[in-house]
Amino acid sequence: MKPDLHRFPLLVAWEMTRACLLACQHCRASAVPDPLPGELSTEEGLRLLRELATYTPKPILLPTGGDPLARPDLFLLLEEAGRLGLKVGITPAVTPRLTREVVARFKTLGVHQMAISLDGASPESHDGFRGVSGTFALALQALSWAREEGLMTQVNTTVTRRTWKELPGIAEILAEKGVATWEVFFLVPVGRGALLEQLSPEEYEEVMHLLFDLSRRYPFKVRTTEGPMFRRVALERRRREGGEDNALVGEGRGVHLSDGFGFVFISSTGEVYPSGVV
Ligand code: SF4
Repeated sequence: MKPDLHRFPLLVAWEMTRACLLACQHCRASAVPDPLPGELSTEEGLRLLRELATYTPKPILLPTGGDPLARPDLFLLLEEAGRLGLKVGITPAVTPRLTREVVARFKTLGVHQMAISLDGASPESHDGFRGVSGTFALALQALSWAREEGLMTQVNTTVTRRTWKELPGIAEILAEKGVATWEVFFLVPVGRGALLEQLSPEEYEEVMHLLFDLSRRYPFKVRTTEGPMFRRVALERRRREGGEDNALVGEGRGVHLSDGFGFVFISSTGEVYPSGVV
């Protein structure tokens, strides 16, 4: 049965907190080290999960932040999500809070996938972007832990003028680490990201073709967020050149999700938005 996206979202991103120990240049949440007042309490979070579990079909929950690991009640909430039968794809920040034990716990609690960010193919480029040295090494380590624990992984990369030349090197790392999906985000200039330099239209087009080339070369899936022209490029090139690729451009799901239509974002204080651009 086709889901009724006018009534129920398929993807629910919950900004569990805006606290995070990193200081990324593009941070949508303008994250800060300590939690801000007004975040949903444990009780309110549990109520939210129970309400989501009444939707048809049950949505996929994407706990995000800030850093979900900054919430002391994270595991309790994940346990409840699992009990309620909600599929969970978590996006922890890569900080010393993300340990092997935490990755193993995600797996035990039935988390479906862990997504972490990689915005450069070297410590210099990635750590420079994320604002804290050692983050690149820890990100690679976390991907290895997940692989060893049998937890599926996704890597998120933000495309800016500073990061786009790193894309081929990042793709190579993903293949080495057995990552399932590469989600490439095109910068929306909000939060701290408002200060970053965007690509020109010609460069965007070049990036789309590059991503399609990489989706032919490597086994992981390639998907874009806020980059709808990837669909046009992939479909055109498939028609023209044929052959196999791993570009995810919407076919097969039966529905096309977009902001507010199949997707909602719940802020740390509980407001519901059609997208994370708030
Ligand atoms: S890890 Fe995420 S929440 Fe933390 S500063 Fe970076 S972008 Fe913001």
